[in-house]
Amino acid sequence: MTTQTTVSTVPFWIDGQHTTSRGSRHGSVTNAATGAVVRTVPFANDADVDLAVASAHAAFPAWRATTPLRRARILMRFRDLLERHTGEIAAAITEEHGKTLPDAAGSVQRGLEVVEFATGIPHLLKGEHAEDVGTGVDSHTVRQPLGVCAGITPFNFPIMCPMWMIPVALACGNTFVLKPSEKDPSASMLAARLLKEAGLPDGVLNVVHGDSQAVDALLTHPDIAAVSFVGSTSIARYVYETASARGKRVQALGGAKNHAVVLPDADLDSAADALIGAAYGSAGERCMAISAVVAVGEAGDAIVSRLKERATALRVGPGDRAGVDMGPLVTQAHLDRVRGYVDAGEREGAELVVDGRGLTVSGYEGGHFLGPTLFDRVTRDMSIYRDEIFGPVLVVVRAQSDGEAIDIVNQSPYGNGTAVFTQSGAAARRFANEIQVGMVGVNVPIPVPMAFFSFGGWKSSLFGDLHMHGPDGVRFYTRTKVITTRWPAHRDAVSLSMPTLK
Ligand code: NAD
Repeated sequence: MTTQTTVSTVPFWIDGQHTTSRGSRHGSVTNAATGAVVRTVPFANDADVDLAVASAHAAFPAWRATTPLRRARILMRFRDLLERHTGEIAAAITEEHGKTLPDAAGSVQRGLEVVEFATGIPHLLKGEHAEDVGTGVDSHTVRQPLGVCAGITPFNFPIMCPMWMIPVALACGNTFVLKPSEKDPSASMLAARLLKEAGLPDGVLNVVHGDSQAVDALLTHPDIAAVSFVGSTSIARYVYETASARGKRVQALGGAKNHAVVLPDADLDSAADALIGAAYGSAGERCMAISAVVAVGEAGDAIVSRLKERATALRVGPGDRAGVDMGPLVTQAHLDRVRGYVDAGEREGAELVVDGRGLTVSGYEGGHFLGPTLFDRVTRDMSIYRDEIFGPVLVVVRAQSDGEAIDIVNQSPYGNGTAVFTQSGAAARRFANEIQVGMVGVNVPIPVPMAFFSFGGWKSSLFGDLHMHGPDGVRFYTRTKVITTRWPAHRDAVSLSMPTLK
């Protein structure tokens, strides 16, 4: 369907207001279901980034001095506003990203839960105290904010990924500059507006849009203290190396190839239901999507036939249509890339069980649609196994034993999420113990931790030491100071020896 759309420009958000770019470069934002350009987005240059960082830098002293409880109360109001505006934010996500409205609303909810966690951060900012570390000497620790923090986020969770960072950073007393994905920038603009409505002082949060130029300006800016990144592995590695070489604290979450191991004793109908949601939900554009199934022994044929039946029954269409299970991919370029992988899988000799390439959605011929696709008997040298495809393409690898399945998962360079399907407690325990992956599900296909735990992978899925939100988020956005105190009643003799507390 060709729709008449007005193409507006998405502004920056600097110092609590909409701001236009000083540069001339820009990109296009499309409606994923129609392919129509619906907005343009300015690409920040160095001067734009300077302005945003200067605003955050100027706002830092007063925000740092605002008591943690007052900061938390602003976040409490923001939480309520997010809930009230879930429909509006979800609609923006569905239009620009393509995922279905219920899925988009679910991602708002998961972001909101981090805000809820952040309202309790005053408790986590408490330090430790030790009386009499020496005679008449006490020590205590405080956690203090870092300064201006930057966040760079991917297209696939336009509200949830910024929410992994912003509420925690702000609750800890930092100010923030966000550079969301240029493919779907509208949700973060709504969040910035709602934070202002909740009472956030101007300058505490700023949003600039753009591509690598804006990112480089943030990574090298002398007034940025820390960088949080979520995106693909090659850019995550680059962000980590570039910003840490300049002395910044960095956490850079990368791509994934998440495996689900299906053991022969699993409840195969439940496992197939779970895998269909995990593989094809959000058209596979989730960093925690299951994109590889390792089927052990006789589970192989049984799970493939169940997956085939369910994948073929999925309803694909525009994300805002009721009853649609799976929407389009984010852009035409991404659709072309994912289709290219399906072509490659066929060429490389994998068994194409369900082919999504023939799909057309009547009335939406310009949309970025690809139907659910399933490959069986995939080998580990094939590109459809090795690479993160980030689309509705599920590959099945066969293994002979639990141990071989664990080895397959552990040999992957990625380590974001994984799951095992079994009815054996012993097999599940062995899997959880031996698997080299940061987030593990037992009969849970997408084991995304709740906000009060931390989210992050291992190996090429994360560069840095600390995961996002939860306790690690508080550690990342604060630094610890140890204060040693004495109130002597008399003068001590001068001593040039190493002080030791007695
Ligand atoms: P991407 O790496 O292309 O982009 C992420 C961000 O980096 C965007 O803001 C983008 O503008 C910026 N960017 C792009 N190219 C750049 C460059 N050359 N230099 C500097 N910055 C650049 O990722 P994407 O396509 O937006 O998102 C999908 C990827 O994100 C997938 O690989 C997915 O697995 C990953 N992801 C990971 C997690 C996680 O928690 N590990 C979560 C969500 C998404």
